[in-house]
Amino acid sequence: MPPADHHRVLFEPISIGPKTLRNRFFNVPHGTGYGVLRPSTWASYRAVRAEGGWAAVSTEFSSVGPSSDEFPLHSSDIWDREDGRRHKALVDAVHHHGALASIELHHGGAHAMRRLSREPALSPSGLAGELPPPAGPLGTPKAMSLEDIERVEQAFVDAAVRARDVGYDIVDVLAGYGYLFAQFLSPFHNHRTDKYGGSLENRARFWIETLSRVRDSVGAECAVASRLSIQTQGPWGHTLDESVTLVRMADPLVDFWDLNVGSVLDWGSDISPSRVIPEGHNMEVFTRIRSATQKPIVGVSRWTSPDLMAQAVRSGVIDIVGSARQSIADPFFPQKVYEGRIEDIRECMGINYCISSLDRGNMACAQNATAGEEYRRGWHPERYEPLERPDVSVLVVGAGPAGLEAAVGLARRGADMVHLVDSADQVGGHLRQVIDLPGLREWGRFIDHRKVQIEKLPNLQLIPSTTLSADDILDYGASHVVIATGARWLGTGLTPGTHTSLPGVDGSAWVFTPEQLVVRGARPVSGCRVTVYDAEGGYMGSSLAQLLADEGYKVSVVTPHSQVSAEADLTLDGPAVRAFLHTSGVAMYRNVSLTGVGAGVLRGAGEFEEPFSLETDALVLVTMRAPVDDLYHRLVSERSALPESGIEAVFCIGDAQSPRPLAEAMFDGHRLAREFESTDPSVPLLYRRESLHFVE
Ligand code: ADP
Repeated sequence: MPPADHHRVLFEPISIGPKTLRNRFFNVPHGTGYGVLRPSTWASYRAVRAEGGWAAVSTEFSSVGPSSDEFPLHSSDIWDREDGRRHKALVDAVHHHGALASIELHHGGAHAMRRLSREPALSPSGLAGELPPPAGPLGTPKAMSLEDIERVEQAFVDAAVRARDVGYDIVDVLAGYGYLFAQFLSPFHNHRTDKYGGSLENRARFWIETLSRVRDSVGAECAVASRLSIQTQGPWGHTLDESVTLVRMADPLVDFWDLNVGSVLDWGSDISPSRVIPEGHNMEVFTRIRSATQKPIVGVSRWTSPDLMAQAVRSGVIDIVGSARQSIADPFFPQKVYEGRIEDIRECMGINYCISSLDRGNMACAQNATAGEEYRRGWHPERYEPLERPDVSVLVVGAGPAGLEAAVGLARRGADMVHLVDSADQVGGHLRQVIDLPGLREWGRFIDHRKVQIEKLPNLQLIPSTTLSADDILDYGASHVVIATGARWLGTGLTPGTHTSLPGVDGSAWVFTPEQLVVRGARPVSGCRVTVYDAEGGYMGSSLAQLLADEGYKVSVVTPHSQVSAEADLTLDGPAVRAFLHTSGVAMYRNVSLTGVGAGVLRGAGEFEEPFSLETDALVLVTMRAPVDDLYHRLVSERSALPESGIEAVFCIGDAQSPRPLAEAMFDGHRLAREFESTDPSVPLLYRRESLHFVE
């Protein structure tokens, strides 16, 4: 069946130099943390995106040599033939599914981490990168000599030739995000007085020379592109006006443009969460570039809606939809759009768990449990292995993210009967409240997707508004019971840093937990002073502070961490979140641990034990969550009664087992469904691990 008329434009092939994209979906370069050290994980991850219909699938940043060794980050290095061999596996896998393979050639310059190579960092003028340690490297980089420039240009050519020789179709030279070429383009970094510094033409020379040499070497066989950041915030980039000139200058050297905005320091302006930027946020700046080139433009813009994508392509501002996050959430997005199965798309929620988990070494997704598990656990995003013994009746108690994912997974595996029971009248668990917090509406996409699946699965029955006791469960008639009853916020003030209750809080009417505020709608006296004590550091503390400030309370945030909403720095909305708290008049106290509360005063200690006190009329404790696992413990304590009730096994999943971020609760449910018939499904199977060389 052809795609719907209004999406047809997304499936028109388009030429890019010597190659043709089969449609307008370009899976742009994005980090995974797998890199060259986990080449099979990496290849399987990319291959599934090719299988899902993306016209081109790119590597993450591929460093061209040891002066841009990025360890402890994981680049897909292409330094020598051995690296080439690993790339070949990826290229072959991508080609197998009919997509073009693209490589993003990268040099980090002053930002390169170099923990393994221990070479000096290279830079235009010996000026350090903007990222402070530990995120960035320590020390002053070397100002590149003319020989260094020649060596790096040659490294790009060698890498491009290697890429061509292993079968890459597209060579994309990274000139964005504040890395080496962007440093040359930027007067903030480039203070040179030779032919590589000064005028824009001079600052662009290194990039233009490299592009030209790459094109001469591989342009006959490969499409050549450049990934250019066309606008940055702060002084370290180049302006949009300059980008227009740069595009004109380099236009004859590329077959298409791969455009974004931002730099390593304002990475958030490119890939902020949905809390901060709307879909299509780059279209205005892309419009400026359109006037400078007739070459196809790949444009990223936190795209999730096929309608908006089609509109963007139809407008002519961009020609090809560039996407990373939507491809992570749903590798089969293009195929589903083609088939008109829009309701089956797992829409990216824009919560940036992919980015925060990547920074911790392994990319994962809160919508798609299979992202990154294609090789490691052999999971496919669309295919489930049928149960060998489908004659089971599974009772899942709790329809939060964990219970939903387990129930849908088991039903998709063909279990005869899956009952999903929840006390609430709707599915979603704790997420139902989260979506009412300021800016978090799109988190509801998690629930929307599963609701559609529930309706499609005849063997999955949702039973809302029903609270089950242990006796109810014993009498239910299920062969397997999955307890997914979630977690609750502690009202005791116990924090990860103290492991004791906060003296003075218990039972106080002026002390609130997030659930009291969000679920039960409780509020302190109108307009009073409220302090949010955020010892957790996730979205909840800052969201409640924002909610209360919006409602007219005089809000303070106290945190033992060195930054308010510390986790938001990993999801890239930290600066924006703190800015909107600041503009809402929220006072912020960092590095303060509370030691006691009483009579309208909070007492605490600062980083150096200096006393802290703050008068407040109400206190909101965002400190830790505890599992709601009493049902589970009741059932397993009566193990002898289980066989009598026909129950073969009881499992505890999600936050009821261990309260964690949304993605991990969902993963827990998904894993149980996938491994339901293992010897002991309560314990994850060992996953495949990779090592490159092992010499005994
Ligand atoms: P998770 O994140 O682990 O999925 P949530 O807290 O989001 O957990 O969801 C847990 C769900 O379990 C909530 O929707 C809650 O209403 C439901 N629940 C808890 N106890 C029971 C019970 N005894 N019977 C039915 N549903 C329950």
